Amino acid sequence: MHIMVTNDDGIHAPGIRALAEAMKELGQVTVVAPDRERSAAGHSLTLHSPLRVFELHQGWYAVDGTPTDCVNMGIHNLLPNAPDLVVSGINHGPNLGDDVTYSGTVAAAMEANLMGIPAIAFSLATFSHSENFSDAAQVALRVARQVISNHLPSDTFLNVNIPDQPLANMLPAMITRQGKRSFVGKIVDKTDPRGRKYFWIGSEEPDFNDESGTDFHAINRQHVSITPLHLDLTNHESLKLLAGWSF
Ligand code: MN
Repeated sequence: MHIMVTNDDGIHAPGIRALAEAMKELGQVTVVAPDRERSAAGHSLTLHSPLRVFELHQGWYAVDGTPTDCVNMGIHNLLPNAPDLVVSGINHGPNLGDDVTYSGTVAAAMEANLMGIPAIAFSLATFSHSENFSDAAQVALRVARQVISNHLPSDTFLNVNIPDQPLANMLPAMITRQGKRSFVGKIVDKTDPRGRKYFWIGSEEPDFNDESGTDFHAINRQHVSITPLHLDLTNHESLKLLAGWSF
């Protein structure tokens, strides 16, 4: 078993160290991750500049690109064969509801899924400093074992959010659907020391709808949340609606 580990918080983040350590239980581990924080990079791919790779130590590669670049580099260049599983994380911060569309952590799993490789994104649901990454990594190991033994449909990958708790305090995993945030849409504007305006997107944590069955609902109650995702963004309901319009 060969497991590739990546993230969007950068190769030096505590979450990727805990995840790589836990994955050793399953087999050989290769880490290919951005050389710095690339959170909210989404599914972006570097096409107009070269990429450089630095082997920090055996099996740990830092890439000066996005999480999606890392998955490409790992699978098409650095690893001798396609890995059996790609895991991304453990992100420092939740990836719930609409977050998945911005998340580099989730996009890395998405990219592996596009290449036909089983993939899981893991996030620790806190914005504060946390001591619980190794507990979260134990949850990740359990989820990875289930994916390996039960197999996912080929168009499906998992988005897993883990409560910021010691293992003993976490509640069992719930299978959830993607929830909804209610955005406040705030942009902070200030003036820099040279008198020029600058802007900063998002000043506070956006709120969410606490609807039963969603990822938010599970995490809010200290359950591990497991959401199966796929890349077909078609709104199947609307196919019928639009078919009735005259274009
Ligand atoms: Mn991140």
